[in-house]
Amino acid sequence: MREDTIAAIATATGEGGIGIVRISGEDSLNILNKIFCPVSGKINNRVLSYGHIIDPDNDKTVDEVMSVFMKGPHSYTAEDVVEIQCHGSVVSLRKILALTLKHGARLAERGEFTKRAFLNGRLDLSQAEAVIDLIKAKSDKTFDIALSQLEGAFSSKIKEIRADLVDILVNLTVNIDYPDEDIEEMTYEKLEEGLRLVNNKIEGLLSTADTGRIINEGLKVSIVGKPNVGKSSLMNALMGENRAIVTDIPGTTRDTIEESITIRDIPIILTDTAGIHETDDVIEQIGIEKSKESFNKADLVIFMLDASSQLTQEDYEILNHIGERKAIVLLNKTDIGKNIDETEIKNVLNDAFIIETAVREGIGISALADIIENMVYGGEVSQKSSLLVTNVRHKNILEESNQSIIDALDLIAAWQPLEFIEIDVNRCYELLGEIIGETAADDIIEKVFERFCLGK
Ligand code: GDP
Repeated sequence: MREDTIAAIATATGEGGIGIVRISGEDSLNILNKIFCPVSGKINNRVLSYGHIIDPDNDKTVDEVMSVFMKGPHSYTAEDVVEIQCHGSVVSLRKILALTLKHGARLAERGEFTKRAFLNGRLDLSQAEAVIDLIKAKSDKTFDIALSQLEGAFSSKIKEIRADLVDILVNLTVNIDYPDEDIEEMTYEKLEEGLRLVNNKIEGLLSTADTGRIINEGLKVSIVGKPNVGKSSLMNALMGENRAIVTDIPGTTRDTIEESITIRDIPIILTDTAGIHETDDVIEQIGIEKSKESFNKADLVIFMLDASSQLTQEDYEILNHIGERKAIVLLNKTDIGKNIDETEIKNVLNDAFIIETAVREGIGISALADIIENMVYGGEVSQKSSLLVTNVRHKNILEESNQSIIDALDLIAAWQPLEFIEIDVNRCYELLGEIIGETAADDIIEKVFERFCLGK
């Protein structure tokens, strides 16, 4: 089937040195020929040529540009692709885009270039998703993960598990269909062994998902403590040179400040909360409600105390509020003395990390960063690993496919017929195929590409 030729502005809108209009499809070169006059007189495959975009209706020069034609399948979409580099003005970009549309192209939908790359088999679905992650990456780590996913590291892992499943399925089918033939017999023991291996591999991937989510979305950290213990000073110390993007969240009272920072390349969404104590003051109550909200949503609570004095009623209230949450307790202002009773804190929070700090003096900040780093990369996930499950869609599918393996193992334990077991194994195989797009229904594919921006 002949596909439309599509066009879009591929660069971000706004002022820029250059901007790019991209065309993909069979008519790409035709369209370029109609609107582009190369100074050299000809357009060669994969060679940048200098010239002018001319409106053929009135022979007026639209812009001075560089154009390149990339013959398919050696292009981003695997189709014939043209890229026109013009001056990065919205006016020029729009005029050139309009000309391409007038001369045979249709405006591309969101993600349509990448979707074509997928449909033409140049990328699988998880690689296409990596393209979005790559574009949106805000830290070196998220970029590395997305790049390795784009290069196929994650897909290979999924393919490897599917290959294991194919071996099991072939064996199962043969045993089900030809039970009397003299073939290698599928014992329950062997079947179980194979499925356990698959189960381990899937769980190995799933064990990276928490870290993956944090690396992608950021670790939500709520700093709590009564007034004047040093919370703002801590925020400032943490932001220091690591300051990434500062967000003023509209609608927050002065009691809750949210900042995005990175600590050891881990994105952190930091909230300094006013307090979570009980009060009759209505205005204060609003601030406290907000604090409680961010406190309740936090992945990690940093509870700050003034170590130079003893625990107060207000400290106890916060302490009791922390409950089972992951917490780090900072005993601050140790430079002016330590009068606080640590055992009191340990009695309430027996799992919390407790460290002594003097944030104004910069003491204890790196110890705090160490703990956070270990929390995020705790367990099996190595800091160097780029094979992390960061995508919620992948995580959900992995969980579902793992469940079908667990179901199959339960059937084995109950000596159920091979036919029943095969259904679950097959389901796992199909589900994993959705990650790379091999068995994904159209609506799933649509959803994936909806996340893209125009021109990609
Ligand atoms: P917040 O109200 O909890 O945000 O506390 P601030 O960060 O505004 O600090 C309150 C006061 O304590 C300020 O005068 C800080 O300079 C001081 N302060 C903060 N950290 C330390 C510390 O580690 N040692 C000492 N001695 N003073 C500190």
